[in-house]
Amino acid sequence: MKKIIILGSTGSIGRQTIEIVEKNKKNFKVILLSTNKNINILSEQIKKFNVQNVVVTNINSYKKIKKKFKKINVLNNFEKLDKIIKGKVDYTMSAISGFDGLRPTIKIIKKTKKIAIANKESIICGWELIKKEIKKNKTVFIPVDSEHFSIWSVIKDSHKDEIEKIFLTASGGPFLNKKNIKKVKLINALKHPNWKMGKKISVDSATLMNKIFELIEAKKMFDLELDKFDVLIHPKSYIHAIVKFKNGLIKIIAHDTDMKIPIYNSIYIDEKKQCYFKSKKINLEILNSLNLQKVNDKKFPVIKLLKKLTNKNSLFDTAIVSVNDEIVSLFLKKKIKFFEISKKITTILGLPFLTKFKGQKPKNLAQIERLNEFVRLKTRTLSVISEKK
Ligand code: NDP
Ligand code: MG
Repeated sequence: MKKIIILGSTGSIGRQTIEIVEKNKKNFKVILLSTNKNINILSEQIKKFNVQNVVVTNINSYKKIKKKFKKINVLNNFEKLDKIIKGKVDYTMSAISGFDGLRPTIKIIKKTKKIAIANKESIICGWELIKKEIKKNKTVFIPVDSEHFSIWSVIKDSHKDEIEKIFLTASGGPFLNKKNIKKVKLINALKHPNWKMGKKISVDSATLMNKIFELIEAKKMFDLELDKFDVLIHPKSYIHAIVKFKNGLIKIIAHDTDMKIPIYNSIYIDEKKQCYFKSKKINLEILNSLNLQKVNDKKFPVIKLLKKLTNKNSLFDTAIVSVNDEIVSLFLKKKIKFFEISKKITTILGLPFLTKFKGQKPKNLAQIERLNEFVRLKTRTLSVISEKK
């Protein structure tokens, strides 16, 4: 029986992980689930899998769950995990959204033999700390972001010197062919043409910020320089990565737009007798019209940020995540318009109070968290000032 933990179990990735587990319920024991505030879905999951340990971050929701499930362990954060989880589980899915996934991801590593990380923000801000924990605890790491899972599957047995170039593909989101984005509404920004995802990542996909994140994520986890990467638009999201090797071979990884594919494979990767994933037929229509294009930087101004990145891992990476988290949150609260998102992000990230972090290496979790708080506060203030002007 596989013991598992799911962080962010009520979200899009979390629920898809649960669905996969449910298909083979008798072979899994769900040890811990975590959520922020969605207690309805969490309650169903607790009952369905007879879960004995949960972490609920939002204080009101935490109190409600504690009252409702008197016999199980309910925590408000990840600091006292040792008290409730003895030994190690087999598999953990890290799928909290945004910067808030960083601390839980780091804290859970020592409790799991294998960690599958979907939360890209934790990799961008804290890869050095995650890597250290993984090494210390001999935990196996598997990327879940579809591009990274695909790249990882292709290059995991190669030496990095064998790689010439990696192309990351971006769908271009819901506004790829829209001429004027001045009047687009929140609801349209959340309607991704190919994927059904959480709100934050859907907005990041519409601005292409998601691809900036994925490039930093890939650079860090595969330990490659920035010039090894390029981004291409591929509207159907069928191809997840193109890897060109120095021996002349190009490997293209394609799969249906279904996050259950990387999630499923991350769970069953070392099973000899796999219960195979029921995939659809290969979509030849899409393969015949891949339609790969260069990114138009007028349409997607955030792509210019790629030129501002440095090869060194620095605190500036956290600044990028924090500015974006705050700006997207203002957009989700309808305080700013869609077209303002990219403008605000690129302007704020060009200011000296943030560019100075390009030379500073992250030292520890507390320092990264302090920087996140500071950047979010400054971003909020700057956005309000520019709104009032
Ligand atoms: P969702 O918004 O759907 O779900 C996020 C989950 O995290 C929910 O369980 C939510 O709880 C929980 N959560 C949010 N904020 C906090 C917090 N402050 N403390 C604790 N828990 C919190 O996100 P997705 O599932 O779409 O994405 C999760 C991660 O995976 C993101 O980093 C995303 O970039 C990445 N990813 C997602 C893909 C996708 O297809 N969805 C594809 C590739 C990567 P609650 O429900 O209570 O709010
Ligand atoms: Mg992705």
